[in-house]
Amino acid sequence: MGDPQGFLKYERKNPEERPPKMRINDWEELYIEMEKDELRIQAARCMNCGTPFCHSGILINNMVSGCPLNNLIPEWNDLAYRNLWREAYERLIETNSFPEFTGRVCPAPCEKACVNNLVKDPVSIKSIEYYIIEEAFKNGWVEEDKPSYSTGKKVAVVGSGPAGLSCAWELNRYGHEVTVFEKNEYPGGLLTYGIPNMKLDKKIAKRRIELMGKSGIQFKTNVNVGKDYPVQKLKEEFDAVT
Ligand SMILES: Cc1cc2nc3c(=O)[nH]c(=O)nc-3n(C[C@H](O)[C@H](O)[C@H](O)COP(=O)(O)OP(=O)(O)OC[C@H]3O[C@@H](n4cnc5c(N)ncnc54)[C@H](O)[C@@H]3O)c2cc1C
Ligand code: SF4
Repeated sequence: MGDPQGFLKYERKNPEERPPKMRINDWEELYIEMEKDELRIQAARCMNCGTPFCHSGILINNMVSGCPLNNLIPEWNDLAYRNLWREAYERLIETNSFPEFTGRVCPAPCEKACVNNLVKDPVSIKSIEYYIIEEAFKNGWVEEDKPSYSTGKKVAVVGSGPAGLSCAWELNRYGHEVTVFEKNEYPGGLLTYGIPNMKLDKKIAKRRIELMGKSGIQFKTNVNVGKDYPVQKLKEEFDAVT
């Protein structure tokens, strides 16, 4: 915990929305990125609770409370406060394959579970996450992830929404040869064809998909598995299908 009194001294601040008169001229994202020093102050509001519910991801009455990815939130809050953005990025990707998506569109159950809610407003966890990953992209820390070895196993992933993409990304990191099949013309699932630009600009999904290609993951688009490509054939050609 960077500043033990931070949660008493500072108020929560949310990112500002771009003025409507500007927004009617384009399809760009809604929020204005917060300044680094402002986010460091927001990170100082984290109490580093002994029992940090923000990252617990437990089910209460069948509903998730806290981060379902078990993101190490108090740890990267502290690193952000101390201006150690690269370390914060490395801690963030320990649990989260694509923070650039969650930092934009996740409904942030971590913030609902934040202990600061009991007396004040929650820590701005989502804004801090967003800043960490965008800082990482700006500084070239997010690199293609080519494994140094191969298991010799071939895996087919059907569907290239966030579920398929993260599955492919992690399997590739473990040295498997991964091919993603997608029935649409372009990968991304609802990241590409559903969520509006003002929430998640298409270039954000494109940036990650290109990185995946450079990391060795193959994409076969315009292929509807079960229709254009028999499932039995897929099972014969690949060691695993998911
Ligand atoms: C307008 C809109 C706004 C949203 N906003 C948010 C938000 O703010 N926050 C949030 O958390 N969620 C949001 N969502 C929901 C989010 O997009 C979905 O929960 C998420 O995309 C689900 O991921 P998925 O990978 O499971 O499925 P999808 O994204 O649906 O991906 C499945 C992919 O599989 C492909 N596929 C299916 N069958 C086959 C086949 N037989 N062969 C080949 N390919 C196949 C499909 O074409 C598709 O590309 C929004 C959704 C919409 C529509
Ligand atoms: S619950 Fe809130 S205050 Fe406590 S560690 Fe998590 S983010 Fe920090």
